[in-house]
Amino acid sequence: MFVPDQQENQISIVAGFDIISLYKNPDVAYYGATIGRFANRITKGTFTLNDKIYKVDINNGPNHLHGGNKGFHAVDWEVLEINEHTILLSYLSSDKEEGYPGNLQVFVRYTLTDNNEMKIEYSAKTDQLTIINLTNHAYFNLNGIGNGTILNHVLAINADHYTPVDETLIPTGDIISVKGTPFDFRHPERIGARIDNNDLQLKYGEGYDHNFVINKKENELALAASVEGDLSKIKMDILTTEPGVQLYTGNFMNGNTILKGSHADHRRSAFCLETQHFPDSPNKKYFPSSLLFPDDIYKSTTLFRFYN
Ligand code: BGC
Repeated sequence: MFVPDQQENQISIVAGFDIISLYKNPDVAYYGATIGRFANRITKGTFTLNDKIYKVDINNGPNHLHGGNKGFHAVDWEVLEINEHTILLSYLSSDKEEGYPGNLQVFVRYTLTDNNEMKIEYSAKTDQLTIINLTNHAYFNLNGIGNGTILNHVLAINADHYTPVDETLIPTGDIISVKGTPFDFRHPERIGARIDNNDLQLKYGEGYDHNFVINKKENELALAASVEGDLSKIKMDILTTEPGVQLYTGNFMNGNTILKGSHADHRRSAFCLETQHFPDSPNKKYFPSSLLFPDDIYKSTTLFRFYN
């Protein structure tokens, strides 16, 4: 994805690969991928629906992460429509795939709008009660991929609360105030300003790897976060209908993966803001529900809006 800076230079702001097979490699961390059926973590890969216990892949320590080894990032999607503004993709995830119940038909439409936005619209239908949580896992560096860390990017998150985690990055179930913590991004702040504070939550994530509770009404398309590249001055707003957004500051990037443009994936050289239902919500009574019933249609929209 290229965005012009004030001098009209086209800045490459999303990390990716030249070779398609790398996107599917389970050792490569979901670059630019559509994540499903369930984005983020599920405790011990286990959840219960209608008194039946379901087990999904355990692929992240003791937990399930991002749909499993053959999650939606690792499958071939069918192109239903394509023109210069939009592409519509679909995928049929069959019953019991990666352990999830129900045949799930998923659609994802990417659209470039006339307001300098990349819009992603998700929809899905199931034939059995199931769980769903879709997101996009783009790694951004608004100064340009390969142009240093993201620690001096300035970030604001529209969240008074976040969901703290245990040492395996599973939410404790609490929803706590960001006030007085390194998680307070209600006013714009450098991503790196407090990232190495002596804080147990930051220790667990080796930096930020946490879900923020967006200040919004259910299903409302609202501002989740705004980020500015300190060098390029490119700004991005993220708006979403989802209740949460995961800030992941590339803490586990380790320089071992070579990205498009021959740049190594150095630690914290990109960030992700993954709009989502809260991690482990199938096991958390008080989190917004991620259930999808056969008579319902799942719908979710996220917009990335750019300014320079
Ligand atoms: C997770 C991180 C993980 C990264 C890449 C993020 O969504 O929260 O813990 O390392 O994805 O897999």
